[in-house]
Amino acid sequence: TTGQIIRCKAAVAWEAGKPLVMEEVEVAPPQKHEVRIKILFTSLCHTDVYFWEAKGQTPLFPRILGHEAGGFVESVGEGVTDLQPGDHVLPIFTGECGDCPHCQSEESNMCDLLRINTERVGMIHDGESRFSINGKPINHFLGTSTFSEYTVVHSGQVAKINPEAPLDKVCIVSCGLSTGLGATLNVAKPKKGQSVAVFGLGAVGLAAAEGARIAGASRIIGVDLNPKRFEEAKKFGVTEFVNPREHDKPVQQVIAEMTNGGVDRSVECTGSVQAMIQAFECVHDGWGVAVLVGVPSKDDAFKSHPMNFLNERTLKGTFFGNYKPKTDIPGVVEKYMNKELELEKFITHTVPFSEINKAFDYMLKGESIRCIITMGA
Ligand code: NAD
Ligand code: ZN
Repeated sequence: TTGQIIRCKAAVAWEAGKPLVMEEVEVAPPQKHEVRIKILFTSLCHTDVYFWEAKGQTPLFPRILGHEAGGFVESVGEGVTDLQPGDHVLPIFTGECGDCPHCQSEESNMCDLLRINTERVGMIHDGESRFSINGKPINHFLGTSTFSEYTVVHSGQVAKINPEAPLDKVCIVSCGLSTGLGATLNVAKPKKGQSVAVFGLGAVGLAAAEGARIAGASRIIGVDLNPKRFEEAKKFGVTEFVNPREHDKPVQQVIAEMTNGGVDRSVECTGSVQAMIQAFECVHDGWGVAVLVGVPSKDDAFKSHPMNFLNERTLKGTFFGNYKPKTDIPGVVEKYMNKELELEKFITHTVPFSEINKAFDYMLKGESIRCIITMGA
């Protein structure tokens, strides 16, 4: 198939909020610095749902969504030297060119060339799409478009992982797991014995809680509007729960009262701007650090009184838990292989590719943490 067009099944989002439609698509061969990947497993992250609903996001249809996945390299384009056909890989929504000031910096994963870009619909090399149906181009999403049996990805957005790692589990490392885990371990950096609040107990928030547990946090306070999440969250080391709907007082105040002035660290994993403000204002003055992870709507604005900052609180934000995708992600997969990290507990549902719309239902109803979609089924 090298150098040839591949015809395969893809789930196409034709319109905002309408069920995806299984289509036969043509996938062009990879061009310069690109690889074509056979996707074996993909899963649904809330970011896919936002761009599918396109409420408060730019609608760019028809589009092939999907960014959390695992598979193997089918073929490589010109100039790709670090990947070969057969390599087991995770495509990642943010990349690492290796050369820019961000890639050279120890602190940043915001690659100049390949950082997350939700509005890009073609490949960087020529701006064109590699997907088409009867000659009509279909838009890419996050440079990954994993809701297709084959996809084309920039080689800088591809992490090569241990071929022994089960792709039906480690596919969640390609977004949600690493995002939450890294937000705590790499950005919030709680010290042993400190308290951590996690806003939003989906896969990203539960991975943030897992990070807090690994860091030795003494208290992990989970905040969610969905009470179904609390039972499951106990498996992730969450010790206390706050449902904002059950209090007349602002959550900030509830948490301050529970913790003698505020938590030491907080990680926001909801996408709600109100929760972002609450997550910032609930950290202790003098040393508290809050980290934003949720993807906001296009017109959201963060508002908090400057005195909250003057009182020595720190607000940070991160994509992908500050991990460099190519350099760091193989190591996160190894943590799973060495049993330092459990992935099974994040996976609550599995559906065949033909029933991908069910994965959207589970997420919208707040029933799933992660739903794995099995390609070729
Ligand atoms: P999810 O839907 O599984 O979980 C989100 C949880 O937040 C739900 O349990 C929901 O009930 C809760 N929630 C919503 N509004 C809330 C509020 N105001 N207060 C308290 N809880 C609230 O989603 P997920 O897949 O875990 O993703 C979480 C967020 O992280 C999303 O915004 C997603 O787009 C974002 N995300 C960011 C990155 C990144 O790199 N920064 C990567 C992946 C996902
Ligand atoms: Zn994601």
